[in-house]
Amino acid sequence: MDSAAGLVFNVMRFSLRDGPGIRTTVFLKGCPLRCAWCHNPESQDFGPSLMFNAERCRHCGDCEAVCPHGLAACEVCGRCVEACVAEARQLAGRRVTVAELVAEIERDAIFFDESGGGVTLSGGEPMAQAEFSRAVLAACRARGIHTALDTCGQAPAETLLGVAAHADMVLFDLKAMDSDLHRRYTGVPNHAILANLTALAQAGHAVVVRYPLIPGVNDSAPELQAMADFLRPLGLRRLDLLPYHGIGIDKYRRLGIPCPLEEFSSPGPERVAQAAGALRSQGLDVRVGG
Ligand code: SF4
Ligand code: SF4
Repeated sequence: MDSAAGLVFNVMRFSLRDGPGIRTTVFLKGCPLRCAWCHNPESQDFGPSLMFNAERCRHCGDCEAVCPHGLAACEVCGRCVEACVAEARQLAGRRVTVAELVAEIERDAIFFDESGGGVTLSGGEPMAQAEFSRAVLAACRARGIHTALDTCGQAPAETLLGVAAHADMVLFDLKAMDSDLHRRYTGVPNHAILANLTALAQAGHAVVVRYPLIPGVNDSAPELQAMADFLRPLGLRRLDLLPYHGIGIDKYRRLGIPCPLEEFSSPGPERVAQAAGALRSQGLDVRVGG
């Protein structure tokens, strides 16, 4: 199993987000959702993605010279990336084995031990590479490393529960409670997601719900009330509110895809405090950020 490989687009060391203490967050490729506010669009495809930074390009033509298909008919082979000395072209997504990734994570074990931190699998969606995710979490746990799984919950229940069994904590990203609203902004309804959140809670997992707060999208009083009404009976009290920020616009440009982020605005501090207060009044343990 240690030789099984997965596709990873970023490994962020010394993160103070995505779980307790100092963490290494591993971002996996592939996501079944298409959240309109996604700030990691390079995570969405299930294979590697080619990114082009026009500001770095020296117009030397080396990429065109090595490309076997013609730049406009890119098949993401990566040859132009190797040819580009200006590093204007980059591949998001590298194959790593479980053993290689765990060795990379383990380098910071001393910081995990001192801070109560560990590793978090994020994405993309780790369930898109469920077997790889399961193996990485299991291997880290076997080495005494705290494990967290960050998921949007869109996966077969059995698969999600099987992977979560190797996580000390589940960070569950809820996007909207109204299913039509959820479908409109993510591309899928939320029935399976809510059922999976219920299953995780009933199985006794330590779950932190995370909710991106996006003005005019999912911050209405009925949405927040519906979320509190859903979480309370499940005994899920801990909620991290993540105020939307416009970071990520440049990534859309480098991927050459339309950027939907301008459609959204960030909530001001007052709006965040108001939403947090409304949720706290419903008995939830709300933290801003996370
Ligand atoms: S190889 Fe790099 S610097 Fe040269 S034209 Fe291509 S992208 Fe630009
Ligand atoms: S990744 Fe391969 S196919 Fe795509 S532009 Fe570069 S060389 Fe051509």
